[in-house]
Amino acid sequence: MNCQGLIREISAYLDGELTPELLGDIERHLERCKDCRLIVDTTRKTIEIYYNTQPLALPNDVRERLHQALIKRLGRRPNA
Ligand SMILES: [Zn+2]
Repeated sequence: MNCQGLIREISAYLDGELTPELLGDIERHLERCKDCRLIVDTTRKTIEIYYNTQPLALPNDVRERLHQALIKRLGRRPNA
């Protein structure tokens, strides 16, 4: 698991939809990657704020835009 892999799975991670294997990979990565801890934290808060203001689930296009923004940001300074 690297940063890009984590970003790809972040929605499923926050939704609790990952297999135990992937969940383990992500949690191991988060233990040693401060950047991704920050991203997961920020994304979780963003989703919580969204859920608090919208009764419906996060639309796919919003998820997609969030992913793209995160991938772009990570792409500029790859690590792990
Ligand atoms: Zn990372």
